[in-house]
Amino acid sequence: MSPLRLKARQSESLILNPDAALGYKDISMSPRRIAPLLLMMTLLAAGGALAQDKGSVNPKPLPPLANPNDPKIGAKELFARKLLPSAGPAHVIGSYVKGCIGGAQQMPLNGDNWQVMRLSRHRNYGHPDMIALIKRLAAKVHKDAGWPGILVGDIGQPRGGPALSGHASHQIGLDADIWLTPMPDRRLSREEREEMSAVMMVREDRLDIDPKVFTPSHVLVLRDAAQEPAVQRIFVNPAIKKALCREAKGDRSWLSKIRPWWGHDYHFHIRMRCPAGASECQGQPSQSDDEGCKPSDLAYWFSEGVLHPKPPPEPPKPKPPMTLAQMPAACKAVLRAGDAKP
Ligand SMILES: [Zn+2]
Repeated sequence: MSPLRLKARQSESLILNPDAALGYKDISMSPRRIAPLLLMMTLLAAGGALAQDKGSVNPKPLPPLANPNDPKIGAKELFARKLLPSAGPAHVIGSYVKGCIGGAQQMPLNGDNWQVMRLSRHRNYGHPDMIALIKRLAAKVHKDAGWPGILVGDIGQPRGGPALSGHASHQIGLDADIWLTPMPDRRLSREEREEMSAVMMVREDRLDIDPKVFTPSHVLVLRDAAQEPAVQRIFVNPAIKKALCREAKGDRSWLSKIRPWWGHDYHFHIRMRCPAGASECQGQPSQSDDEGCKPSDLAYWFSEGVLHPKPPPEPPKPKPPMTLAQMPAACKAVLRAGDAKP
């Protein structure tokens, strides 16, 4: 492949990524080609705002923008200032990493079997199908895995779009992070929802899960999520994928949806397909039905360069933020639309 085409593929891989500014293409893309880039991405992941990052009970509201019509301003500044969804029916526009959503729904902060965490982030909005899916999953997990319930991390902003921290994706209300820590059997306080740490599931040498914290019930939780027909992919740390491959009993077809990816040591990331009839939603092609459990499928993730990446000789230059003009045109209307009734 010519250097130019290689570069194009690299940037394509960068933009499709689930969390913390990481691009997700598909691991069928030769890892060796993207290795130097991935080193950088690991470093970015380490600096991202992840599930284990703490929030604050009294977050300061963002100051108004001096010039919100400046064409160079990052779209994230505009979307982060919208505190309510737009009125109207659900309307997905664009892709997981470049898009927005009108008519999003709020995930209620508490249910019988779930609690929303890090309320200060204000990212508990998503497509109505996603909200319904999380509620359903919470009840299923309670029944199948015996957990009191699930802890819900970031879904998306009230109108989706890019966020000021943490994710490249989660822009169209069809991505959600669920903690790998079971919900405690009591109502958490606001402080606890900001301060409580998620539990690291991966062993110190990064080669496998830590069996003291990753239990057979986790296998059932991930299976329940992956067996939802509208779920297309679930991102987990490679050590977790390895453990699932070893432990899954009976029907293993759901394993094909579980994808090893950077980060995701403390939470898993659910990605739904575009809803039926959502003609402006740009999804991803389906992956193969293969379990992805062969040693050769996982070898790359446990190679020395990935486990112990060397920092790049020069720190990567920060890219200018995505502007509203670079997003699908219909996102402008979503941003300008009136508020849904709270
Ligand atoms: Zn995520």
